[in-house]
Amino acid sequence: MAKRDYYEILGVSRNADEKEIKRAYRKLAMKYHPDRNPDDTDSENKFKEASEAYEILADQSKRAAYDQFGHAGVDGQAGGGFGGGGASFSDIFGDVFGDIFGGGGGRGRSTRGSDLRYTLELDLEEAVKGKTVQIKIPGHRECDVCEGSGAEKGSRPETCGTCKGMGQVRMQQGFFTVQQACPTCRGSGQVIKNPCGACHGQGRVQEEKTLSVKVPPGVDTGDRIRLSGEGEMGVDGGPPGDLYVQVAVREHSIFTRDGRNLYCEVPISIVDATLGGELEVPTLDGRVKLKIPPETQTGKLFRLRNKGVSPVRGGPAGDLLCRVTVETPVNLTKRQKELLEEFQETLGGTNGTHHAPKKTSWFEGVKSFFDEMKF
Ligand SMILES: [Zn+2]
Ligand SMILES: [Zn+2]
Repeated sequence: MAKRDYYEILGVSRNADEKEIKRAYRKLAMKYHPDRNPDDTDSENKFKEASEAYEILADQSKRAAYDQFGHAGVDGQAGGGFGGGGASFSDIFGDVFGDIFGGGGGRGRSTRGSDLRYTLELDLEEAVKGKTVQIKIPGHRECDVCEGSGAEKGSRPETCGTCKGMGQVRMQQGFFTVQQACPTCRGSGQVIKNPCGACHGQGRVQEEKTLSVKVPPGVDTGDRIRLSGEGEMGVDGGPPGDLYVQVAVREHSIFTRDGRNLYCEVPISIVDATLGGELEVPTLDGRVKLKIPPETQTGKLFRLRNKGVSPVRGGPAGDLLCRVTVETPVNLTKRQKELLEEFQETLGGTNGTHHAPKKTSWFEGVKSFFDEMKF
């Protein structure tokens, strides 16, 4: 895919100054930051694009190379991390927001790694009973060639000559002296003359890691499990971020869940509904028998105590509520239809209401409605 022009991405002119570039990037970063646009790949890509553009244009020497040679002049220089998922943005944020909001002054600035989020899909049974799952997440580890320094083997990062290791420089602007992050070392106080080949001077390399997540019984969609310290690596010795595993429970073919209660629909025949009967209904622990009393109407709820879910935060288990639906028989033979007609006669014809409690009260309601309206 052809890369877009960095100035175009940030929406600034080619002679924009450092402040304009910073301002433009900050605006885009605020708008497209992954924390504000969860699960939005388009925003994430825009965020990465803007971050990459900023990283090049905010650096004087990289910007000069880009101005002269275009993308060919800076390829591979935009922070190795941006290619894969879950890249770290905190170092750039430290730069942009750090000096605007008053943080990150001077050298030895360390930044906590970003928090990561992982969506874990579970079946209802798994969510109710709990499970230990293995998940694979993108991450970084310290580069073992340079032991995290980012400098080639045998060399070390050197104290920045521009700021003498302070990370900040004073600039004369009219009558004022302004303190700014050093443009050469971007505030770290150190420069790497010979970057480590294995990590391109980043001090860390990408590595997928497998984690074992213990899902406690009773979790539901929206619950989060925090794995402390399993987020992005910190920058310059900063602590790592956390990993949040967000539970999403898949739809179940039989049960729907509402908090600690489970619901299911049970079809019954007109014969069972009329004469009463016993049927087997499913629960998450297997089948149980449900007694249907005679003269059961459609929509009746039967409660099976403690056959619901034990909530993850403690407390008694919920119930399983079975809603019965009386089914109209289909595909009847001629003989069966005759029997039903015969049966209808015994009820007193189509207008008979003695055996139909709902119909009786419905007709009475209609009658009094018309009487009051005086039709
Ligand atoms: Zn390295
Ligand atoms: Zn410096």
